[in-house]
Amino acid sequence: MPRTFPQPGEQALHDDNGEGPVEYDYDLFVIGAGSGGVRASRTAAGFGAKVAICELPYHPISSESAGGIGGTCVLRGCVPKKILVYGSAFGGEFQDAREFGWNINGDITFDWKRLIANKTKEIIRLNGVYKRLLAGSKVDMYEGGGKIVDPHTVDVEQTGGEVKRFTAKKILVATGGRAVPLNIPGKELAITSDEGLSLEEFPKRVVIAGGGYIAVEFAGIYSGMGAKVDLFYRKPLPLTGFDEEMREVVARNLENRGIKCHPETNLTKLEKVAGGIKVTVDNGEEHEVDAVMFATGRKPSTKNIGLEDVGVELDKTGAIKVNEYSQTNVPSIWAIGDVTNRINLTPVALMEGTCFAKTEFGGKPMKPDYENVASAVFCQPPLSVVGLTEDKAVKQAKNDILVFTSSFNPMKNTISGRVEKTFMKLIVDAVTDKVLGAGMVGPDAAEIMQGVAIALKCGATKAQFDATVGIHPTAAEELVTMRTATRRVTPKGEVLKV
Ligand code: NDP
Repeated sequence: MPRTFPQPGEQALHDDNGEGPVEYDYDLFVIGAGSGGVRASRTAAGFGAKVAICELPYHPISSESAGGIGGTCVLRGCVPKKILVYGSAFGGEFQDAREFGWNINGDITFDWKRLIANKTKEIIRLNGVYKRLLAGSKVDMYEGGGKIVDPHTVDVEQTGGEVKRFTAKKILVATGGRAVPLNIPGKELAITSDEGLSLEEFPKRVVIAGGGYIAVEFAGIYSGMGAKVDLFYRKPLPLTGFDEEMREVVARNLENRGIKCHPETNLTKLEKVAGGIKVTVDNGEEHEVDAVMFATGRKPSTKNIGLEDVGVELDKTGAIKVNEYSQTNVPSIWAIGDVTNRINLTPVALMEGTCFAKTEFGGKPMKPDYENVASAVFCQPPLSVVGLTEDKAVKQAKNDILVFTSSFNPMKNTISGRVEKTFMKLIVDAVTDKVLGAGMVGPDAAEIMQGVAIALKCGATKAQFDATVGIHPTAAEELVTMRTATRRVTPKGEVLKV
């Protein structure tokens, strides 16, 4: 029988039995103060709800007992990663500067420790900003791990072991996710992105396992700073799930920038040796390096928060199952963000948190909208996409689709001599003319695609793209000047000439 969820705003069952307590300490208790949890609690408090939030003590490296207000994005994800991406990009800029007339003959050296110290200072500042935001919104904060003991009760175990008990009408789980290590001999020698952002010594030789967001971003970071990077992934191309053509461009760019890609190759063993770590791979090759990073995916953090005790259902990936209003099968418990494994991106967690708070405390039922969520991978140069990939468009569209592509030498490269083309793509419904997908690999891709995402959200047609006057001279203007389709593809996948 299909599972049915209570409707938004419907009363939790437990306190309506006429037996349970109806006076709660809080209207809402949130477990996890990352992007989603903080947004939900502040928005709910803004509607007049009495709200509390708990979070583990701060540490840049997460564990069962460490976290910090701000969560993955702020403390050990998007923010510190982008700082390191900025840091590493100077390497390429120095190379490009020569033909622009700059004589770079002096002593250009890179100080990893200084960058990491500045990065840590910034995330500690942001941790403080988040605390002040919560306090300013009158959200009570408790430091410690939250555990649900019944559908309306949360225990917070504080550092030192003291447990505080709170009752709440509604409970929101926003505990995020954690990196999954590869299960191979010597796995304890490897690091994850958490440690990768805080290493004491700069690793001069690095092996990275995985071909996803984190793998290609860190490959670019370390390589840009001068490390020798070997990237091992199990598919023929990195970035599974992204547009095939763009994946090829990214793989080419990685190699061009000095990263050695090893497609369809897996790590089999790690061993400590005098010079560092010996990595053995499944084709028998051995590599000796200073650091091995596992970037082989993340898993929802659902352990030790009492979910099984109250019967909250998980899916086969271990994520909390929720309905379209983020409500679990236990009517007084909701979940948002990476712990639900829908689209694991900070802005999506923010959207889910806002929708939850508006629905439950603002009297305005609101479902998160997952259509045309743009995203970016900060490899170098970055990749950014919105809407459907060509494959998905062919599978989903009822009509033929027109594919417009452009591969060109960015103006800056004509002088710098860098051999690296920018690639752009638009996917258009041949009958309705609606733009179904857009993507770009090239400098500033993420900044450019945010604007394109608005156009797609508004249902823009190719004719409207064409009617838009370009900004000259930019790479972005190419998106409004692609006049001739590269190919036409039928819903059966037949590729026709245009
Ligand atoms: P991804 O899911 O992006 O990539 C995981 C990679 O690990 C894939 O290449 C996958 O291979 C590979 N993999 C998984 N299991 C194994 C295995 N047993 N052996 C070998 N390879 C394996 O995860 P990430 O960890 O990179 O990032 C987690 C999530 O965090 C992302 O999906 C994204 O949602 C978010 N994120 C977003 C960022 C952004 O917005 N810029 C930046 C960083 C993270 P395969 O290709 O075969 O699946």
